[in-house]
Amino acid sequence: MNRRKFIKNASLTGAGLAVGSTLIHCAEATSKNEENTAVVDTKNNLPLVIATWHVENATTKAMEVLEAGGNALDAVEQGCMVEEANEKGQSVGKGGLPDRDGNVTLDACIMDKNGNCGAVVYLKDITHAVSVARKVMEDTPHVMLAGEGAKQFAISKGFEPEDLLTEASKKAWEEWKVKSEYKPIINIENHDTIGMLAIDNNGDISGACTTSGLAYKLAGRVGDSPIIGSGLFVDNEVGGCVATGLGEEVVKTVGSFLVVELMRQGKTPQEACEEAISRIVKKPNSNYKAFQVGYIAVNKKGETGSFSIHQWFSMTKFQNGVNEQIQSDYFNKA
Ligand code: ASP
Repeated sequence: MNRRKFIKNASLTGAGLAVGSTLIHCAEATSKNEENTAVVDTKNNLPLVIATWHVENATTKAMEVLEAGGNALDAVEQGCMVEEANEKGQSVGKGGLPDRDGNVTLDACIMDKNGNCGAVVYLKDITHAVSVARKVMEDTPHVMLAGEGAKQFAISKGFEPEDLLTEASKKAWEEWKVKSEYKPIINIENHDTIGMLAIDNNGDISGACTTSGLAYKLAGRVGDSPIIGSGLFVDNEVGGCVATGLGEEVVKTVGSFLVVELMRQGKTPQEACEEAISRIVKKPNSNYKAFQVGYIAVNKKGETGSFSIHQWFSMTKFQNGVNEQIQSDYFNKA
């Protein structure tokens, strides 16, 4: 499917956030004629990888790891690393759009089959935030490291610091600075925060999430992506979920944990994602028309689901030799 890019200015009433590269779509157009593919997969063929957005190279890498007998944790880490190294993706890793002061700051987390997890927030100058998160999980007694401490920890583990602000992202930031309007640019792309879930040949589940967060955000802002339970949650007895979109809204509903708990109660991944979106849009005074949130989920059986507030969210799924982008069903069909 061709890469789509729609950019639309709009205000994010009440949120006061600059939303740049993040998936935000304020679709007023009727979507009745659009083909929606609710993803309820009844196959149970492992291994399996799903990821937010159109990231076939990342899911290919993850599947290579799984097919070579690797575990789900290695798969999600290496899959996410593909996009972190991809300078063209302006929402993850190197080349990510900066905050409004020009700093590229990364957030990431990872979670394994045993419920262990690690995260980094406000990480500067290190491309592979997901790998630093894994080191936090495996080599420290902690769950999360932030800022300079996270960077120094990464360097102590052999990560090479480098400038993450590419010419393209610098140019975009300089153009933004002309007006410096602290209001969102509502856009949608086929690429954004990368959240990935995998089930390996043993049937074990792991997940990871990595992002540069909202473009032109306030310095110091951290979203949902590195927050266990919000941007990512895995329970190996039940399934996993990852989120993308306006992180503040995901955090307020502890979205990924909610999806996994709904699956534990018997909902399919699709039903669980729909219910979690409904918790956001049905809040009193929700201004959901001005922001996007999307979830993808997988259960222990290898069934998957995805759902978003607005159209054009998608997931990439690699299962049974097929690596495909699947458009998500969505709430706002008015
Ligand atoms: N969820 C990310 C954040 O709020 C951004 C995104 O997914 O686009 O930082």
